[in-house]
Amino acid sequence: MPRYRASLLALTLAALTAASAHAQGSRASAFDRLFEQLDSERLNPATPEAAKAELARLRALVPPGDRRRELLYQSTECFQPPEDANASLVYARQGLAASKAFGDVEAQARFQLCEASVVDMLGEPQKALGLYTQGIQLSRKSERSALVADGLVLRGNVYSYLGRHAEALTDFLAAQRLYDSSRQSERAEGNLQNIAVAYRRMGENEKARDYLERSRVIAQRHEDWASLAVVAVQTGFLYEDIGQPARALQYYEQALGIARQRLTPADVAGMQMAKAGAQVELGRAAQALESVAAARAGYAAVGDRSNEGMLSLLEARARGDLGEGAKALELFAQAEKALQHDGNDRYLERLYPERAKLEERLGQTAAALADYKRYLALREKRVAARSEQRNLLLREQTDASRRDFENQRLRAEKSLRDQEIQALLKARRWQRIAMSLGVALALVLGLLISRQIVRTRRLRVLALTDELTGVANRRRIEVLGEDAVRQARADERALSLITFDIDGFKAINDRHGHLAGDQVIARVAAACQQALRQTDEIGRVGGEEFVVLLPDSGIDAAAQVGERVRAGVEALDFSDVAPGLRVTISLGVTTLAARDADLADLLKRADGALYQAKAAGRNCLRTA
Ligand code: GH3
Ligand code: MG
Ligand code: MG
Repeated sequence: MPRYRASLLALTLAALTAASAHAQGSRASAFDRLFEQLDSERLNPATPEAAKAELARLRALVPPGDRRRELLYQSTECFQPPEDANASLVYARQGLAASKAFGDVEAQARFQLCEASVVDMLGEPQKALGLYTQGIQLSRKSERSALVADGLVLRGNVYSYLGRHAEALTDFLAAQRLYDSSRQSERAEGNLQNIAVAYRRMGENEKARDYLERSRVIAQRHEDWASLAVVAVQTGFLYEDIGQPARALQYYEQALGIARQRLTPADVAGMQMAKAGAQVELGRAAQALESVAAARAGYAAVGDRSNEGMLSLLEARARGDLGEGAKALELFAQAEKALQHDGNDRYLERLYPERAKLEERLGQTAAALADYKRYLALREKRVAARSEQRNLLLREQTDASRRDFENQRLRAEKSLRDQEIQALLKARRWQRIAMSLGVALALVLGLLISRQIVRTRRLRVLALTDELTGVANRRRIEVLGEDAVRQARADERALSLITFDIDGFKAINDRHGHLAGDQVIARVAAACQQALRQTDEIGRVGGEEFVVLLPDSGIDAAAQVGERVRAGVEALDFSDVAPGLRVTISLGVTTLAARDADLADLLKRADGALYQAKAAGRNCLRTA
């Protein structure tokens, strides 16, 4: 299953480790040691029972009167599998009130996310959304970026489940930036599939493929069969989306092979269903019928009836192709009923034109017309919803980048401890929650026939932030730069500008791959942000080229900042991206002069200085 482990427990442990620096007394340190031990069990996954026993030991170690540890312990316990969901809810709410009274915002955040997850499990996604949002806000206040990221992933999964893909994507991408910049590599890896699925549902196939490939490489390394199967199925969906069912079929076969050997019968059934879809598409009706029958039997064996609508639809199409018109119509009607019952408009949108085609063939013109009309109505509805999603994504991207920016700054001001947080204990309950939301195979497969023709190209043009790094994109930084020039002129104040470019980046790409290159770019941007002041702005203007605006700074101050950025990048550790990888940048610095007509003049001069820095051997700064 998804490798994502929203281990809030892990975060609790990290908080505790931090708290331990100040802790006195042997009991407190025994408590902390046990946490560390639990940490190492990440490599050796405990059973739920073992986790429970360890929690009990831990509880016994809470130092009397140590309210903070007590609350942290409880917020951890909150995420244990509930015997009774309603009791869990009460527990979460009590913890929330207690940590509020105690003034511990971090514990509050954890309890709030815990409450959201229980509400989520109780089947109230809308309500859970609001609670997750509150939990995320509290996490932000607590300055724990990895906790913020966990909250975002959880909320993203709910959005995804509700078909609000733009919002899901926004959350996943924001979480990824936070994981990357706080070195949460395990969780960052787990989030890749979320992002891939969201991109695919938005119609961004190239991006989806890119993320799937990253995910596949990692899953292979970890021998994570469930993930490998999901990646194969998702890749198949991608090919179906671009009208290549034959290729899709190869991937479904691959996924089926993995499922048969390593996964559950329900997973096998899911793969059979996927296969049937591609076979129908290819006109191999008889084979499709076999796959449908196998999928049906598999689902029936585990008592899962949730795919009946889809299976009937597939069978109807196959029977129609085989000339069994009456039987096909009967199956279409069954499918329609099931899909209407589920409120699954996406599949209905696929059903109506298919049935209309059959009806036309059978000479039932009036019925065909009625089905076309139903299809058009659904399509209109979806198009309207889509533009709403786009607007939301735009708005949230701007807000999100501003918030992430704040968050990174706060983190920079704190000690190193956040960076040392690693994903710790495998909390099985969280895996289950993640599974039950959007990334689970059953749901993933539920998208088989969906062919989102969402076009988000316009979005990218309109968006203000660069997706990879979360900093301003070229358009945005140019607008900001022109404003800054105007402002500096009006107030008669200084304005400086830095451009920088990563050294020897082609070689980095060539040696370590494009994806490693992307990670380098993202981390360099984050490092630069950390070295800047609140009023400075950074933008990504090319592949590995950035511009920084420094209002109120003369050339000397700007050169100092530039030097700090240079040293900061040089000091970055990329050993997790590629062993032995070192990255440096060259910088050009300039300042606004009376003769400058506009931003372009400044940029040109800074580029000239950058060129000199490159010529001087790189990893240095030149002023102009
Ligand atoms: P120099 O020290 O002179 O800057 O050498 P360089 O190799 O860095 O040269 P240059 O700046 O011209 O190379 C930029 C390369 O960056 C070219 C392109 O292949 C790569 N690139 C551009 N955009 C991206 C991107 O988004 N991701 C990755 N991974 N690579 C990119
Ligand atoms: Mg370049
Ligand atoms: Mg370069």
